[in-house]
Amino acid sequence: MTLHNECIFCKIIAGDIPSAKVYEDDDVYAFLDIGQVTKGHTLIVPKKHTKNIYETDGDIAANLFSRVPKVANAIKEAFQPKGINILNNNEAPAGQSVFHLHIHLIPRYGKGDGFD
Ligand code: 5GP
Ligand code: ZN
Repeated sequence: MTLHNECIFCKIIAGDIPSAKVYEDDDVYAFLDIGQVTKGHTLIVPKKHTKNIYETDGDIAANLFSRVPKVANAIKEAFQPKGINILNNNEAPAGQSVFHLHIHLIPRYGKGDGFD
């Protein structure tokens, strides 16, 4: 696995920064977002550092997304949302603030859940 010294998500993957783990396997790590847009807001990241979708091989992106159904269902079971948004921001103008590829899983609870 490639770790980048100054990358906060690489530090989370390495266990140097604590996180609330939702799911982990050899290739990906999923954890609760510290900013919780809604209850259960989760990020899933590849363990191999890659900046964003522009710099990611198709097979790493495919591998990452292949875990999304499993993580979405874990969130569904734990938090009982009514739906979920799957989002990915690439580059600062598009809202990317951490430059290690990640997919947001944002559970939705209906009108007024904070993400309207
Ligand atoms: P972006 O804006 O890059 O799409 O999303 C980055 C996300 O990472 C934000 O939603 C932010 O709350 C989350 N985040 C930033 N630093 C940390 C951290 O140290 N721990 C966790 N769990 N989430 C973080
Ligand atoms: Zn990283």
